[in-house]
Amino acid sequence: MSRVTGRFAPTPSGRLHLGNVLCAMLAYLSARSAGGRFLLRIEDVDIPRCPRSLAAACIEDLTWLGFHWDEPPLFQSERGDIYRQHLDRLRAMGRVYPCFCTRTQLHATQAPNLGDHEPVYPGTCARLTPEEIAAREATRRPALRLRVPDETVGFTDGHYGPFAEQLARDCGDYIIRRSDGLWGYQLAVVVDDALSGVTQVVRGRDILFSTPRQIELFRAFGYDVPQFYHIPLLTDSAGRRLAKRDRDLDLTALARRHTPQEILGMLAFACGILPEARPMDLEALVRVFDWAKVKTEDVRVTEGF
Ligand code: GLU
Repeated sequence: MSRVTGRFAPTPSGRLHLGNVLCAMLAYLSARSAGGRFLLRIEDVDIPRCPRSLAAACIEDLTWLGFHWDEPPLFQSERGDIYRQHLDRLRAMGRVYPCFCTRTQLHATQAPNLGDHEPVYPGTCARLTPEEIAAREATRRPALRLRVPDETVGFTDGHYGPFAEQLARDCGDYIIRRSDGLWGYQLAVVVDDALSGVTQVVRGRDILFSTPRQIELFRAFGYDVPQFYHIPLLTDSAGRRLAKRDRDLDLTALARRHTPQEILGMLAFACGILPEARPMDLEALVRVFDWAKVKTEDVRVTEGF
């Protein structure tokens, strides 16, 4: 068996917040407790929303918290040629078609969240003739969609157990390149995880719904499918999911009030790894980490922070 390789893949469209830190921590502990490698990938594929200054702040925050990674971080904004090669492979399989639907229907670069599930694409542009495509291309640059097979794709999540989706019914054909030329999230994630040799993906359960289509894409390219562990989301005291707008829980604010060990210890307690909140660094947490201790229900965090 190949050595475990885990990763953390933040989207730097704001400062890191506590939810990102929980994800980074569990990804790190899971990989390191198995004697594995850990990688960092900056998911700045949506270039206008993810300036370099925020990516740099994200790396700085992770370093301050005590994370280290085994290879230089990858930046998705620098990997357009690799995504293009994979797009060509999908084209050669007859799986790509241009889509001229309006922008409001096309917001596919971001990782989808539980609350803002995209509607399944009704296939409006799936069967345009070459003449229709040529006529529309004269007035509008199309997005590119991937035709999904009429198949059910299932997997066993390392934390939540079995999960399956019928791709045509539950997901529909999805955007792999937006009309403005930015790459779609699903394509970039799969290509990067595969080429980086990632064997273990740990991420928020808001992305669970993307996983079957990613698995199908790994298989289409002939790449090994990693193991997936989705993790609970952090919520505020009212049970609302934490978001980038909760400024008092971003790293700038947290670092004013706490040491890295305090933040990690409180998070480890909140998600079930520690029986009480006590300051601890990552290497000490590696020794007590066990997936069986991690909660499956969402985690309320405001107390203590
Ligand atoms: N970049 C995504 C996010 O920050 C995570 C994607 C992944 O881990 O696959 O939500």
